[in-house]
Amino acid sequence: MKETLTLSTATSENITNDLGAVSFKCPSCGKVDIVRSSSERKNAVRYICPACGFTGPN
Ligand SMILES: [Zn+2]
Repeated sequence: MKETLTLSTATSENITNDLGAVSFKCPSCGKVDIVRSSSERKNAVRYICPACGFTGPN
């Protein structure tokens, strides 16, 4: 079994066991998976796409 470690894009927080976390393709370039933890969603923490510099959560 392959063990994958999932880190938040914005804070590098380990969200592997965070059931409220989400991941989605960058809405601007679609090249990068953006990962957000449940607490970041609740607090509207901004992320920056490492590929194109797009900032969300919008
Ligand atoms: Zn992007």
